[in-house]
Amino acid sequence: MRRASTLCSFAKGAPLRLLSTSSTRQGPQVCVVGAGPAGFYVTQHLVKTLPEANVDIYEKLPVPFGLVRFGVAPDHPEVKNVINTFTKTAQNPRVRFVGNVSLGKDLSLQELQRLYHAVILTYGAEHDKSLGIPGEDLGNILSARRFVGWYNGQPGDENLNPDLSTDTVAVLGQGNVALDVARVLLAPIDYLKSTDITAHSLEALSKSQVKRVMLIGRRGPVQAAFTIKELREMLKMEGCKSVFRQDDFKGVQEFLPSVARPRKRLTELLAQAALDPKAEWLEAWKTAERSFEPIFYRSPAAFLPSSSKAGTVGAVKLAVTELQGEMSETQGVKNTGAFEDVKCGLVLRSIGYKGLPADPDIPFDSKSGVVRNSKGRVEGLPGVYCGGWLGTGPVGVIVNTMGNAFELGRLIEGDIKDGTINATTAKPGYLEAAKILDNKGVQAVSFKDWEKIDQEEQNRGKAIDKPREKIVSVSEMLKVVAN
Ligand code: FAD
Repeated sequence: MRRASTLCSFAKGAPLRLLSTSSTRQGPQVCVVGAGPAGFYVTQHLVKTLPEANVDIYEKLPVPFGLVRFGVAPDHPEVKNVINTFTKTAQNPRVRFVGNVSLGKDLSLQELQRLYHAVILTYGAEHDKSLGIPGEDLGNILSARRFVGWYNGQPGDENLNPDLSTDTVAVLGQGNVALDVARVLLAPIDYLKSTDITAHSLEALSKSQVKRVMLIGRRGPVQAAFTIKELREMLKMEGCKSVFRQDDFKGVQEFLPSVARPRKRLTELLAQAALDPKAEWLEAWKTAERSFEPIFYRSPAAFLPSSSKAGTVGAVKLAVTELQGEMSETQGVKNTGAFEDVKCGLVLRSIGYKGLPADPDIPFDSKSGVVRNSKGRVEGLPGVYCGGWLGTGPVGVIVNTMGNAFELGRLIEGDIKDGTINATTAKPGYLEAAKILDNKGVQAVSFKDWEKIDQEEQNRGKAIDKPREKIVSVSEMLKVVAN
């Protein structure tokens, strides 16, 4: 139970003096916007180190966990174990999850600043980068972000309807997201059936005609951005062979002795797969009907229309590139002036994500797609912080986001303890926010409500031998909560 209605004095070295009123809450009032890993990890740190603080987590969707639910591939359930830690944090009596509430729509930044001592923005980087090249508006050129949302149940992506009647897909980009989408496209359907992949995508994938997935990158094998675990999965995938262009590996083996781990192990495995595959792989690849084809040193220059399906993509024009300067992991490339066209009937752009300002008062660097900040302190807005992908850009995995969020937590803890944030005047926090949301007719969703959705999804999954069947429509989630 929350102790409501108290004023507190929380200045440097001073003991807490607490005075109650009917509309304020005791201790530092903190709000977090965005219930992904960054939001949960920063909350975890603050409730651990500030015993008087309350943390309210506002989340746009009725369901928590951000990209752990909507990004992480369905066949990687072990990665989702972090949800157990987040659940413990959410169940702390000083933490309140408030789902179905969007910053910029249901609450403004100014309102949050008035209601809380500290406002922490961790609402991620949910938008697409585009290539800005001719033909990008042709049909069946999709962002990998939306394709992932389609198979992972992101509300709004359920009707993406990728046309899988083509035999060849070009994935543009060579990071782990690119490998995730390639794996989902090439995996045997029985392998996917036992995951929490959405029913609508499973149905479409079971009828898919896709036989070849090219993974196209501007740079070489030494600079590939995916990790070894994901590559191993592709090399061993049942019914799928890996096909490389041996020319892409010129000079790679000579360079290997100077490469540091873990890059060295990844490059060794790539070179082995391309130049001297294991006998067991070759044996399995003999009967494979599908193929995974990483292509290096190619940069998309234009999309060309299909001659058989009007208005849709039929090929990608690729500029041939070459590395500049000494070989290194971070080497840049330039175009050679030569081009190559590769035929395909579906393109998935996997060239990164970017954030957007959710509220006009957020200072934003639109070029890099991050909130303007210094080590997490938002420029020009004392008491407002940002973290996770919104603050750093869409880089790294959950463990990197965790490190960033804990660091941000320590910074805010310090600011509250040394009086940089003035927590001596009481603030109402959720007591007042609830009234604003009520007046606007917003149906806020609590963590207990989410647990109802969670249970319903698990029940639906059980009936069809899956760990869960995700509910993809927000209105249906709200109905489950209301029942
Ligand atoms: P997010 O996880 O995006 O969380 C942001 C939250 O803010 C979301 O819940 C969103 O709904 C909410 N939000 C957005 N706008 C608003 C608003 N206006 N008001 C309120 N709330 C809002 N890492 C791994 O370690 N392993 C993996 O296998 C892995 N797979 C990945 C697969 C994909 C496709 C992607 C894109 C990333 C993957 N990652 C993986 C990386 C990992 O997901 C990120 O490091 C991490 O999720 C970033 O956390 P975040 O909290 O900054 O952002």
